[in-house]
This record gives sequence, C-alpha cells and structure tokens, in this order.
Amino acid sequence: MADDERPKCAQASCTCPADEDSKYCSAYCEGKGSTVTIDCDCGCPTCGSNI
Ligand SMILES: [Zn+2]
Ligand SMILES: [Zn+2]
Repeated sequence: MADDERPKCAQASCTCPADEDSKYCSAYCEGKGSTVTIDCDCGCPTCGSNI
C-alpha cells in the first residue's frame, strides 16, 4: 500500500505524520497549534532527538 499521501502534523515545526482523526500527531502539537517553535518536543521518535 502507498502511504505517501498521509497528512503531516499541522504544527509547523513538527515532521510527524498526523493521526487519522486529527490534524496533529499528538495532544502536545494540538496544544501548540499554530505557535511556531524551533524544535518540536512532541516526543515522537521522528522529532525527539533532544528530549
Ligand atoms: Zn513532532
Ligand atoms: Zn506533531
């Protein structure tokens, strides 16, 4: 199956794929909303090189 159409998390600095039922990957990003941050701390392995 092709997964390349999966929407990205709507949080600007996050690179995670979003959940099917949400624009965001997690509650952390949903709380951030459109706030622009340098690094994403959502805790996903994709973003979390700096915990
Ligand atoms: Zn993230
Ligand atoms: Zn996210």
